[in-house]
Amino acid sequence: MRLRTSGGHDRSTAKEVKSRMKLISLSLFLAIAVLAIVVRAQDVVYQCPMDPDIRPNKEGVCSRCGMKLRAGIPEPVEFPMDLGGVKSFV
Ligand SMILES: [Zn+2]
Repeated sequence: MRLRTSGGHDRSTAKEVKSRMKLISLSLFLAIAVLAIVVRAQDVVYQCPMDPDIRPNKEGVCSRCGMKLRAGIPEPVEFPMDLGGVKSFV
């Protein structure tokens, strides 16, 4: 009797832990997947080979010269420099 009850209790706890672990690993996987997509989307930038200042965040052609935009990863230094240049010019 005692063994059976303790055994049943252990089994249910193990099952509970297993399902909880499954849920945690699933949500962790989803979080990493979403994070990877967000980081990737932010990293890719489209830029005209002729006009470096033409940088739309979607694929297409340049609004100035009509050349096909190429996808690339912007340099981290590029953004603060651009912002500072725009500010000092305006
Ligand atoms: Zn262009």
